[in-house]
Amino acid sequence: RAKAGGRGRVEVFSASLVAELDERAEIAAALVGAIASDELVVHYQPIIDLQAGEVEGYEALVRWDRPGVGLLPPDEFIPVAEGSDLICDLDTWVLHQAARQLQSWNHATGSRRLHLAVNISGHHLNSTRILDDVAAVLDAYDVDPAQLVLEITETVLVEDGPGLDTLHELRRQGIALSLDDFGTGYSTVAQMSRLPVDTVKIDRRYLGTGTASARRLFELMVRAAHALDLRVVAEGVERHDQLDLLMTLQVESAQGYLLGAPLTAAELASIRGAGAR
Ligand code: C2E
Ligand code: MG
Ligand code: MG
Ligand code: MG
Repeated sequence: RAKAGGRGRVEVFSASLVAELDERAEIAAALVGAIASDELVVHYQPIIDLQAGEVEGYEALVRWDRPGVGLLPPDEFIPVAEGSDLICDLDTWVLHQAARQLQSWNHATGSRRLHLAVNISGHHLNSTRILDDVAAVLDAYDVDPAQLVLEITETVLVEDGPGLDTLHELRRQGIALSLDDFGTGYSTVAQMSRLPVDTVKIDRRYLGTGTASARRLFELMVRAAHALDLRVVAEGVERHDQLDLLMTLQVESAQGYLLGAPLTAAELASIRGAGAR
């Protein structure tokens, strides 16, 4: 194979491409069944209010407990679902699980102060069903719209679809919106100000690398968000020195392994008590 020229390489490349496409098709088909038969699992990661030093809410993160394979992280199946209606079904399934869980926390705590953040893909946000899907969830569970946070990424805007109008409508209904993974892709401060979001989640790469330039960029993004009256959630907090920086910069909230890993609701209940306090 090594001595084969350009033509040989093309064949090797297309053979592996075909294998990859086959694998994606296989995953997509299995995923349809997984949603229907509840093989998906939602883990909840705490988001900490740094001023109060308390859990302010959780982010719902989906996993796939695939029979004979094990627990798959979202990066192994979300990209396959993305771009088709499958992602709408998946997002909606997670929304229902998360809202049901939030309802149970509301009842256990006798309060409605916890937030629950759910990731919504760009395809779903630009679909005609998104508003109905969210309305159905708010209808089905005893939760306030203001307890629900929808996390979106800036790619929803690049497409110039109905996404922006939908965001305004969700906002009008009192649902909170968070701009996820800020600092990746095409995100700019102009987009930060154009979107009707309440919160900006700064991507974990800026805290993670620990280089002086990443730290300066992180600081710049925090200042930009604050200048626009947006709250900041720092993602990927793993070390105490990162937490110190967040306190210095008066970052509102943080999420990361140092503060709590994503866990099932049952695991959370066993470490924090039934009300997930
Ligand atoms: P995300 O929304 O940015 O979620 C944060 C990711 O960072 C999660 O990965 C979380 O487990 C991980 N993380 C949290 N703290 C730390 C830390 O301290 N260090 C490091 N290195 N990582 C940390 P996860 O659960 O693998 O999810 C990956 C992505 O999959 C999410 O990124 C989100 O974009 C997507 N996703 C997850 N659930 C859903 C869903 O229900 N619907 C859609 N559309 N996307 C989802
Ligand atoms: Mg997220
Ligand atoms: Mg993120
Ligand atoms: Mg993401």
